[in-house]
Amino acid sequence: MLRILVVEDEDAIREMIGYALKKADFLVEEAADAQQALLAVAASLPDLMLLDWMLPGMSGVELARRFRREEYSAGVPIILLTARTGEDDRVHGLEIGADDYITKPFSPRELVARIHAVLRRGQGGKPDQPLSCDGLTLDPVGHRVEIDGKSLNLAPMEFRLLQFLMGNPDRVYSREQLLDHVWGRGVYVEERTVDVHIRRLRKALTERGYDRFIQTVRGAGYRFSVRT
Ligand code: CA
Repeated sequence: MLRILVVEDEDAIREMIGYALKKADFLVEEAADAQQALLAVAASLPDLMLLDWMLPGMSGVELARRFRREEYSAGVPIILLTARTGEDDRVHGLEIGADDYITKPFSPRELVARIHAVLRRGQGGKPDQPLSCDGLTLDPVGHRVEIDGKSLNLAPMEFRLLQFLMGNPDRVYSREQLLDHVWGRGVYVEERTVDVHIRRLRKALTERGYDRFIQTVRGAGYRFSVRT
């Protein structure tokens, strides 16, 4: 069973969420503030965290940043709960490393659907699982990419880029986010480096016509999608 940490200071909402998640077969751990959340995570790493934006003391956003900074907790998917609907907040929420956000009020069913989506996207701690999409497969363990059973040679950075994008389909990543996720935080590389590797990756996939999966989203970044 997957364990979810719910960090919310309002008792009624926390209980409602806890109830909905238990009904959906998740193990639920509750925390009423950042301090409790930090203790809970230090004791045992959850499979996903729901963080309320507005918490007393340290906010959910600060808390998310903190979890992301620590190597120990950096890989745990985070969904922010927010009452704010502004576009700035939304972008801000995703830039701090939240995997998704959900605006209050929300239905339990919507919440559970979003959790499943995020867990699928992040593969819930199964980074070794082969990724497969319309004849294109990537095996992280064997470090192999195949198209219709024929292997394709990719340079290491193109491989990692493809692995990250395939593992998080239909989601747009800015160059900065790709640098964080693929090159690693704290590595100083110019943003246009991303474009160079995207170009090489597309070129490698062009021969077989799969470059169409690597899509440019004007003004936003790149995404992997089978839809055009
Ligand atoms: Ca709150």
